Amino acid sequence: MTLDKDTVDQQQQHAHLKPHPCPTCGGQSGFDFLGEQRWPERLVEKMGVGPVVTLWRCRDCDTTITVDT
Ligand SMILES: [Zn+2]
Repeated sequence: MTLDKDTVDQQQQHAHLKPHPCPTCGGQSGFDFLGEQRWPERLVEKMGVGPVVTLWRCRDCDTTITVDT
């Protein structure tokens, strides 16, 4: 059995941020962690986002959403 340690660590690190339920379809099946995105400082100030958001994909409708960390 082989495990990708980096992937496992990342999943655990962001597990508590998991959005739920899906804002698009209302599904309760959960989300798959896609990765995290870091916004440029200029955009953070202008749009009030981030600076780091996590990306999630709904298992029901494949919608990708972002969650502020
Ligand atoms: Zn959905």
